[in-house]
Amino acid sequence: MYDYDVLVLGSGPGGQKAAIAAAKLDRRVAVVERRHMIGGVCINTGTIPSKTLREAVLYLTGLNQREMYGQSYRLKEDITVGDLAARTQHVIGREIDVIRSQFARNQVRLLTGTARFTDAHTVGLTDDAGQTTTVTADKVIIATGTRPARPDTVDFDDRTIIDSDGIINLERVPRSMVVVGAGVIGIEYASMFAALGTKVTVVERRDRMLEFCDLEVIEALKYHLRDLAVTFRFRESVASVERHPRGAVAMLESGKQIAADTVMYSAGRQGTAADLNLDAIGLTADARGRITVDEHYRTSVDYAYAVGDVIGFPALASTSMEQGRLAAHHACDEPVREMQPLQPIGIYTIPEISFVGRTEDDLTDARVPFEVGIARYRELARGQIIGDSYGMLKILVSPTDRRLLGVHVFGTGATELVHIGQTVMGCDAGVDYLVDAVFNYPTLAESYKVAALDAMNKMRHIARLHD
Ligand SMILES: Cc1cc2nc3c(=O)[nH]c(=O)nc-3n(C[C@H](O)[C@H](O)[C@H](O)COP(=O)(O)OP(=O)(O)OC[C@H]3O[C@@H](n4cnc5c(N)ncnc54)[C@H](O)[C@@H]3O)c2cc1C
Repeated sequence: MYDYDVLVLGSGPGGQKAAIAAAKLDRRVAVVERRHMIGGVCINTGTIPSKTLREAVLYLTGLNQREMYGQSYRLKEDITVGDLAARTQHVIGREIDVIRSQFARNQVRLLTGTARFTDAHTVGLTDDAGQTTTVTADKVIIATGTRPARPDTVDFDDRTIIDSDGIINLERVPRSMVVVGAGVIGIEYASMFAALGTKVTVVERRDRMLEFCDLEVIEALKYHLRDLAVTFRFRESVASVERHPRGAVAMLESGKQIAADTVMYSAGRQGTAADLNLDAIGLTADARGRITVDEHYRTSVDYAYAVGDVIGFPALASTSMEQGRLAAHHACDEPVREMQPLQPIGIYTIPEISFVGRTEDDLTDARVPFEVGIARYRELARGQIIGDSYGMLKILVSPTDRRLLGVHVFGTGATELVHIGQTVMGCDAGVDYLVDAVFNYPTLAESYKVAALDAMNKMRHIARLHD
């Protein structure tokens, strides 16, 4: 008899949903987590702090109101780190409380400590005082996530030279910042600090950023970020960073030097599996600290499953949660359907971006014909009311069967709006559904109808010419 039917390592989105799902299946469940990390990277250092910070920045700077009230409009003149942290800490506290309460309601035991495998079905838990106890479980679900990757050549001090974890510990809003790496996290923080008035330089080795997104949308984002005084240095690498008493100098391989109060590295993330003493159960991690799983999230050890960032791509809170729920069902030998293949991407830059399905480039490369339907927020009453003149929604429609192949949204509410397109695509409803549907007025959702009419008019024009 084991102590638990299911033991989950890590309480991030993957671990949480795995634990709750197993408990709902009437299993005896425990979650292991380090004292200060309940809710995982997601709640403590990643998704939730960054998205709350963004909300605080938008509110306090009044950025979204400036089309209405003029470029000098601000809610608060001198925005301090304290102003920003207050909102972040409030939300983190509430979210941790929600998780604790959900665990308690579902009889999921929360065990505090750092977990390492000691033997088959056995995990040692070491507390803050260094005391180790062991727990046993029939099934183990590993959801220990990642930490920021830190290049060996860089001397991080968590004040001047930081990674994304260091953002929430900044003592003041920097006047200037170098962001190394134009991935999602780098660009999200670049836009937040640019909105706060920090002079941001983004250094990226590749010649473009967020290349998995729609090119037109990324061009629009770059235009907006440049308007907020962001400088892009594409095809450039940081060779070294010098730290000085009053800031740092980033030395680029091309010989350029960029002075900044803060240098933030956003150089990918490293899995934590190597810290788990996987040898004890006959499992290995790859060079990036990640674990390989099959389509049921099972590792090569039949009672051990893994979900979330520790298994790699796509490494999102959204997908980690669903992986956790599915893995719990597989671990408990309970029937469950597979994850929907159509998954949205949300990027919380300023303005925000979201899409589902395929891009124009992707379809063109695959020689799949498509028609484009576009709605611009400035032509929607809701766009005028909220003062968003730049937002747009684009649908890609198959001219053969009239199904939607992709939806790309840029501007206010993009990450919410995309789900309408996702549902239409998931239900195979196609462009005609959107043409015929009545939407609330005035809304941004109405952009779907406008874009659908645009695509339909273009397709009809071509059909007429063929007649
Ligand atoms: C700045 C930033 C912004 C992000 N924004 C978004 C976003 O907008 N949308 C989105 O979907 N995703 C976002 N992500 C990604 C998202 O945070 C992750 O995909 C998600 O947190 C991964 O969940 P997880 O279940 O793998 O566990 P994680 O959240 O990574 O948590 C793992 C937990 O395991 C614990 N752990 C590790 N080792 C041990 C051990 N040995 N013993 C006990 N516990 C251990 C850790 O303490 C940690 O709490 C963002 C990430 C970052 C860094």
